[in-house]
Amino acid sequence: VKENGKDNFGLYTDEEQQRRSEYMEIVNDLHHAIDKKQFELFYQPILNLESRKVIAVEALIRWFHPEKGFIPPDKFIPIAEQTGQIHEINSWVLRTACTQKKKWEQMGFEPITFSINFSCKSFTQVDPVKNTQMIINESGVKYDEIQLEITETSLIENFDLAIDTIRELSERGIKFALDDFGTGYSSFTYLKKLPIDCLKIDRDFLLTIEMDKTNEIIVNKVIELAHVLGMKVIAEGIETVEQLEVLKKYGCDRGQGYYFSKPLPSSHIEEFLVKQ
Ligand code: C2E
Ligand code: CA
Ligand code: CA
Ligand code: CA
Repeated sequence: VKENGKDNFGLYTDEEQQRRSEYMEIVNDLHHAIDKKQFELFYQPILNLESRKVIAVEALIRWFHPEKGFIPPDKFIPIAEQTGQIHEINSWVLRTACTQKKKWEQMGFEPITFSINFSCKSFTQVDPVKNTQMIINESGVKYDEIQLEITETSLIENFDLAIDTIRELSERGIKFALDDFGTGYSSFTYLKKLPIDCLKIDRDFLLTIEMDKTNEIIVNKVIELAHVLGMKVIAEGIETVEQLEVLKKYGCDRGQGYYFSKPLPSSHIEEFLVKQ
């Protein structure tokens, strides 16, 4: 029992109390967020670093709350993963992205891969393979143009269920990218056991790459390892031409970041796609 703070239960400090009520508010507000159409998907181009062509977009969720304004995904996705609300969010994101992809195809744009952040927590649902397939089938987009970005943390927490689901979806053509590679408890076991197509190097490694020899070596070796294992590498958070040059020097395949474009609403990406 903490003695400071005018708390309700005599158990929590003001600060903890505040955190708890913020948490509960997000849980409550999330219940309505989908129904009330408060979510939107933004898209960030992913380029082939050699040809500079946009070969994919990453879908990133945006929550515009009517009173609280913009709530960043880092603030509500982890909560939604704890409460299970992530299932509904994952489905909404997948459905919305597939619908957008189909729309661009009908508008005559060259088909590009859609990379979708997907919490492995959803693989603990009943029939995750069937559910995922159903959503993709409804939109009529091709399986091999969908890439699911999974994080190590969400993978490890649900490993046994996740591994079967990932294998089955992968056999049907869906691609998988391991997100934030190198930030968690990276285990090479996962790389061997899972059909991963692509490693995403976290932005943290790029931040000081021009000055920090250690980060440069890590990036170099991660790229080598991925290539030996037959995977592609995407670098995220490229902000400067210097970072880009280092990545190209080591043969990094793809990249995304503010240097090329911030995540944008779909209509702005259309302009981006027209230009090429
Ligand atoms: P992430 O998947 O690692 O996404 C990359 C984050 O870096 C995004 O933040 C993106 O806007 C940001 N970013 C991209 N390029 C740059 C750059 O050059 N500089 C800087 N400073 N930042 C850059 P965002 O959109 O706030 O998303 C944060 C995290 O929330 C994501 O990290 C992902 O883990 C999660 N998230 C976002 N959208 C979704 C979603 O639809 N579903 C799920 N399950 N998680 C999502
Ligand atoms: Ca991601
Ligand atoms: Ca990432
Ligand atoms: Ca991240």
